[in-house]
Amino acid sequence: MKRLFLFACLLGALSGNAQSIDRYFESIRNNRAELTAFFSAMPKGGDLHHHYSGSVYAETYIGYVVQQDYFIDTVSLKVDTSRNNDNCLRFSQLNSLKILPTFKQKLIQKWSVKDYNGVSYPSDKLFFETFSGFGIANNSQARLDTGILELKRRAIKENVSYIETMFTSITCGNTGGIDPNFNSQLLSAQAQGNEGLAMSILDKVFQQLQAKNVKQCAATFNNELTAMHNRLHIDDANFTMRYQNYVTRVVQPLDVFKNMVVCFESANTSPLIVGVNIVAPEDNETSMRDYWLHMMMYKFCHARYPSVKYAMHAGELTLGTVKPEDLSWHINAAVRTAGASRIGHGVDMPYEKDSYDLLRHMASSNTAIEINLYSNEFILHVKDDAHPLDLYREFGVPIVICTDDAGVLRSNLTHQYLLLATRYPDVSYREIKDYAFNSIEYSFIEEKTVKDNLRADLKMRFERFEREVLNTHK
Ligand SMILES: [Zn+2]
Repeated sequence: MKRLFLFACLLGALSGNAQSIDRYFESIRNNRAELTAFFSAMPKGGDLHHHYSGSVYAETYIGYVVQQDYFIDTVSLKVDTSRNNDNCLRFSQLNSLKILPTFKQKLIQKWSVKDYNGVSYPSDKLFFETFSGFGIANNSQARLDTGILELKRRAIKENVSYIETMFTSITCGNTGGIDPNFNSQLLSAQAQGNEGLAMSILDKVFQQLQAKNVKQCAATFNNELTAMHNRLHIDDANFTMRYQNYVTRVVQPLDVFKNMVVCFESANTSPLIVGVNIVAPEDNETSMRDYWLHMMMYKFCHARYPSVKYAMHAGELTLGTVKPEDLSWHINAAVRTAGASRIGHGVDMPYEKDSYDLLRHMASSNTAIEINLYSNEFILHVKDDAHPLDLYREFGVPIVICTDDAGVLRSNLTHQYLLLATRYPDVSYREIKDYAFNSIEYSFIEEKTVKDNLRADLKMRFERFEREVLNTHK
C-alpha cells in the first residue's frame, strides 16, 4: 500500500514537472534569445539530414588553403594549387601585402551565405556554387579528419548525440569499360516509360559490374572509412556517428547507376555505412530528365540489397523552379516506386498528385520526413505557412528536424528548432520532444544495442535537462 502511494506521488510529481516545463516553454515562446538558450541546452538526439562538406564552416577550409599557401585568383576568388593567370597570388603574398584578412572575409562570403543581401545573386546558385569553391580544401584524408572532428565537436556542444552524415561518393576505377550504349538504351526505356525494359538493361549492367569486381572498390572504401572512424575515436560514451554514401544525380544515367551499385555494395557490407542517398540540385536539367530512371535504379538496387536503407532528396522544389506538372510526382515516386525509408525536404508535397493519399501512405508506412527549415527558406524561399510542415503534422508523418548544410548556411541544429518554435506556435514542447526521439527512432543505425543505448541516453538527457530548466526558472 505504502509502495503504491509512493508510486502515485512519483507519478504526480513527474506529470507536474511535465506541465511546468510546458508552461515555461510557452512563456518564452516569443523570445528568441530565451528560446535559443533553451534549445541550445535541450538534447536534440540526432541530425539525420546533413552533408559533410556543406556542414564544415568556411573558416576551416580557409585555414587549410592559407596554410598550404595555395593560389587565389584575386578577381574571381577561385583557389587553386597552381597559378592559372596574372590575377593569381599566393596567400603568403596577400599576407605580405597586408590584405589577407580582407580576402579571408571575401572567401567566407563566397563559400557560405554570410552577408548575402538577397538581391545581388540568385540564392540557390550561390548555395550550390559554394561546394565547387571549397572542394579544393577537401582533397586529402587529413582534411576529412579535421572536418569530421569539427562536426563531432559541434554536435556535442549543442547536445546532439548522433549524426548520420552524407559523407562522400565512391570513386571506382573498376567500373570503366562498360558498354556506353547502355546509356542511350536507358534513356530510350525512360522515353517509353517502359519499366520492364529499364530493369532488364539495369540487370545487364549490374552483371557486368559484378564481373568487374566492384565489391573490391566497396571493400577498399569501407576499410578506409572504418580506419578513419576508429583512428579518430568518433564513437564514445557521448556521441555516435554513422555515414551515408551518396550518388550525384546530375551525371549521365549509366554513371549514376555504376556509382549507385558501388554505394549499395559498400552500405551492404559495413555497419558504419547505413544508407545511400541521391544529391545535387533536383531542378537541374539532367536531374529532372532522369528522375524516373533514378527511381528505377533504386528499385533495382533494393531488390538486390534488401537490407540497405536509404533516404532520398525528393521534392526539394516549389512553384517556379520547374514546370508545375513536375511538382506532382517526385515524392510519390521516391516513396512508392523507389521505396525510400525517409524523404529529404519534401517541400513540394502540396503540389503532389493525391497528396492526402501520399501523406496517409507515408504515415502508415512510417516513412519519415526530414525537415530542413532554413535550407528551404534560403534555397527555395519557402517558409512559414507556405512550408508543408503542418501537412506532415496533420497526417501524422514522422518528423525529424535537420540542418542540411550548417556550414554553408551559417546555421546549426539549435537554429532549426528556434525556427520551428517561432514559426509554428501550435507545435508544443511535447511534439518537439517527439521529434528529437524520432531522430533516433528513424535513424538507420543497424546495431540494435547502439540504437537502444542512444534512446535510453536521450531519455536520461531529457530528464536532466528538464530538471535543470525547472530549477533555474522557479
Ligand atoms: Zn540535403
